[in-house]
Amino acid sequence: MNAHETPDPQAAGAVTAEGIAERQRRLFRTDATRSLEFRKRQLRALRQCLVDNEADILDALKRDLGRPPAEAYTSDIGIVLIEIDMALKHLARWARPKRVRTPWLLLPGSSRLVSEPFGSALVIGPWNYPLNLVLAPAVAALAAGNCVVIKPSELAPATSAVMARMIGAAFDPDVLAVIEGGVEPTQALLAQDFDYVFFTGGTRIGKIVMAAAAEHLTPVTLELGGKNPCIVAADADMKVAARRIAWGKFFNAGQTCIAPDFVLVERAAQSQLTEALKAAITEFYGEDPAASADYARIVNERHFDRLAGFLGRGRVVAGGQTDRASRYIAPTVIADVSWDDPVMADEIFGPVLPVIACDDLAAEAAALRERPKPLALYVFSSDTKWADGIVGTLSSGGAAVNDVFAQMLNMDLPFGGVGASGMGAYHGKSGFDTFSHHRAVVRRATWFDPKLRYPPYTLPLAALKQAMARLM
Ligand code: NAD
Repeated sequence: MNAHETPDPQAAGAVTAEGIAERQRRLFRTDATRSLEFRKRQLRALRQCLVDNEADILDALKRDLGRPPAEAYTSDIGIVLIEIDMALKHLARWARPKRVRTPWLLLPGSSRLVSEPFGSALVIGPWNYPLNLVLAPAVAALAAGNCVVIKPSELAPATSAVMARMIGAAFDPDVLAVIEGGVEPTQALLAQDFDYVFFTGGTRIGKIVMAAAAEHLTPVTLELGGKNPCIVAADADMKVAARRIAWGKFFNAGQTCIAPDFVLVERAAQSQLTEALKAAITEFYGEDPAASADYARIVNERHFDRLAGFLGRGRVVAGGQTDRASRYIAPTVIADVSWDDPVMADEIFGPVLPVIACDDLAAEAAALRERPKPLALYVFSSDTKWADGIVGTLSSGGAAVNDVFAQMLNMDLPFGGVGASGMGAYHGKSGFDTFSHHRAVVRRATWFDPKLRYPPYTLPLAALKQAMARLM
């Protein structure tokens, strides 16, 4: 099945980075992608691809990341299906021009806000959720009426290959194309004049992408990372807090942009929390997590070595075991960590959870304002007013009180970073809005055309001031 009316299966196999933006824009200029029916057809075709290729995708995620099927399905396939279904259901409403108030000065007339697609959008993804993090933005871009080029991460090669094959077989590359590879093809793509660039990855590469986009004045969304604080007060429900923190930290072996990076806990509650974390890990993965079918592996040796290097400092409360051959790092909790320890320097992005005990938790939390703004902030306390106070003090892309990931799982909320953790957002309608230009359109009647606005200006300045204040 081909999603475009005039499929070109030959081209699907031959698609390369060279000239792809202009090629897609040629189709875009025919206005073919503008009709809602066309957009829905693409979304349905993508949905079918995911359903038809589910087994291959799960297998690829297993090969790339040792991903357990339950985690692979929910966090890669399932979430994209939800995005597609949401777009199919609400597209007509999202795309409808919105009437806005027209000031007296512009009467008789009417004003509308019209969403229009940009053209050809480039989506560049990371390896940790290699399908979700390119297809969810692609869904939003297609729903908004754009053509899309996806550049998956070369560090999840099996998933990248499955996407290239399934999308290549089902789509006209002028509408949706997958270009595989690493730095070189990405830079070949970034050299082109795309109408939008959506990047998910690390802060360092985010800067390279933004600089390249600036050459063409192409707007960007940057979904970046950071060190997400998890602040635990002594009055928190420690058992639930530990279970939720452990789940969020060790899901996909910690390779999640919104995973709690480190814990700040009131000193009096440190051992209660670390014991509860240890119990949660055993409950989830058994006495030997290496034998658990529900625990993922580290993506490659480079990241394994980087993470294993963190294990020498602090007091290991849980885990600490590693096996380089299978890229296994046990779910690990390290207590008595200090700010000078290497594990506190950068985003950890792995299954190592440092715990810092604090005498004055609110003051330590407030001091985090000196650091780059993270993607996520988590606060655990039974005093919701206190927790809200911490959320109000510390900026972050999103935040959750007494849970982790919740801010990302509500598709009615925008998902994105702020400051060093990125700019722009997506999910649900905010994804549609991201990939749309919101155009101001005013329509005027001609039967009323007072001379007052034209030179020679006859109204005294005082009267003009009054008229402006009233009529605008
Ligand atoms: P990365 O920045 O190394 O790579 C991302 C993409 O950029 C890949 O497709 C890669 O091929 C490409 N790339 C790499 N070097 C490049 C260069 N010099 N020029 C052009 N393109 C280049 O990120 P990663 O290691 O794949 O992912 C991990 C990072 O992503 C973490 O920092 C994590 O927090 C972040 N992340 C953020 C989110 C989010 O939603 N905000 C989600 C997942 C991951």
